[in-house]
Amino acid sequence: MNPNFSHPPITKTRTICGYCGVGCSLDLLVRDNRIIGVQPAMDGPANEGALCVKGQFAYDYVHHPERLTHPLVRGADGQLHQATWDEALDRAAAGFTQVAAKHGRHAVYGVASGRTPTEADYLMQKFIRVGFGSHYIDNCSRA
Ligand code: SF4
Repeated sequence: MNPNFSHPPITKTRTICGYCGVGCSLDLLVRDNRIIGVQPAMDGPANEGALCVKGQFAYDYVHHPERLTHPLVRGADGQLHQATWDEALDRAAAGFTQVAAKHGRHAVYGVASGRTPTEADYLMQKFIRVGFGSHYIDNCSRA
């Protein structure tokens, strides 16, 4: 082992697992701005040092090379193309408006991802409830 070689430091960030409603506390282990592991929080009130397999190991999507990093809209050629946020939001708004006008407000159904922050989940349900006057929402966050 080279005594002159040293790894960058590992930092711990306390957070709550977002995959389900149990709300287990965990520490994200981060080195060089990348998540390299997850530790269960021994003092987590909901989990007391335990995590299920999802909370413990399912974090690789964060740095996945195929993760979307910009909006995509489908072009006339049927293919997805990079777009600005304004273009993508205009397209989405037009689509929602068209579906609701043609089929009614219950034709729109919101499903939040277990990989989104709680704040994004909140906004999704608000969008469906206020925008369409519907409680047709769900979340895939089940362990
Ligand atoms: S998915 Fe697993 S680790 Fe995450 S909050 Fe639920 S039970 Fe806890």
